[in-house]
Amino acid sequence: MADGRVKEPVITLTAGPVQAYPRISRAMARPIHYDFDPYFQSVYEDVARKCATALRVEEPALIVHAEPAVGLEAAAASLISRDDVVLNLASGVYGKGYGYWAARYCKELLEIEVPYNEAISAAQVSQMLRTRPDIAIVTAVHHDTPSGTLNPVNEIGKVVRDHGSLFLVDAVSSFAGMDIHPDDCYADVFVTGPGKCLGGAPGLTVMAVSEAAWEHMEANPDCPGASVLSLTDWKDAWSKDAPFPFTPAIAEINGLDAALDVYLEEGPETVWRRHALTARACRAGVKALGLELWAAREEIASPTATTIKVPDGMDDALIRSTMRDVFGTVISGGRGDTAGKLLRIGHMGPVAEPIYAVVAITALAGALSKLGREVDLAAGVAAATAVIMESA
Ligand SMILES: *Cc1c(COP(=O)(O)O)cnc(C)c1O
Repeated sequence: MADGRVKEPVITLTAGPVQAYPRISRAMARPIHYDFDPYFQSVYEDVARKCATALRVEEPALIVHAEPAVGLEAAAASLISRDDVVLNLASGVYGKGYGYWAARYCKELLEIEVPYNEAISAAQVSQMLRTRPDIAIVTAVHHDTPSGTLNPVNEIGKVVRDHGSLFLVDAVSSFAGMDIHPDDCYADVFVTGPGKCLGGAPGLTVMAVSEAAWEHMEANPDCPGASVLSLTDWKDAWSKDAPFPFTPAIAEINGLDAALDVYLEEGPETVWRRHALTARACRAGVKALGLELWAAREEIASPTATTIKVPDGMDDALIRSTMRDVFGTVISGGRGDTAGKLLRIGHMGPVAEPIYAVVAITALAGALSKLGREVDLAAGVAAATAVIMESA
């Protein structure tokens, strides 16, 4: 095109950000109100309380006014003190990355690392806590998105709680796509955002913080203040009677408001069910095409993204660009250590609908055939469709 822009895709099936529900985009176009006007302050309190309803916790949620990568870094900066021994769990690129942030603030960083198609067990964590009882904080990613695999954070959290350590969980790409909440996994800091399974825009972080975690931050001499990395600055901001430390992202808050309405009105259980079904149909289609799933075992494959090994001798970027050019369909590649090794089909928010598994399988098989790799397109489509029909 004359302005140099590339043609828009027809269908976005990425592992986030997702193409937001239209109702959320419309909410983001609501009038921008002055943040200290009582109207906006009441909206903000209502949204923070609605987050708590979705998270199934009592206290209004903490909202950080930046994408979850910033919220996660802020949690490390605020929570981890120079006296803390931290155990970081790395089963993927995001887990490994959290260790780099944690290392900046802690006394000592310990790590359990497994191959990036595997998961970390509660037994491994328990063993490490026995050898190092001085571990104060354990950090984990629930769904390590660049691998499409889940860690059993509910079981891990129980072990961490019994040991008396604090547990920080990155649930950015699993919350609202499956049955996971702060209390289920005994999280002291539970981090998520609107840009993945809630089907919103990616510009905010939503957190549930336990009383024990607040106390730890307040006792941390290095906890930042008057900083974008401070959680304590925003602790009371949910209240319509408390001032904002800085200007909140007003349009993003309006979008989050609508995202929570979409989620709660449809009903969380219904939302999780369609995420799970879409992923199951997608995995069946992938296998019937004769391709291999990336996850070592299907039990640890996420219901919110399906990861597929790049067929031997093929270039993942070429597969993705062919899917886009021929079928107008965009999927994700790997990231960091998984880049070039896998393809990712996201099932998040508005595209966590089973028919999109059929679309993904068709576009993937079509692209592979076009690139000279024989796959059984009809078998892939039939297998994905059969899963959908069996569930009806
Ligand atoms: C998307 C995501 C994040 C946030 O990354 P952004 O770059 O802020 O979008 C963090 N953790 C996980 C597991 C994610 O999937």
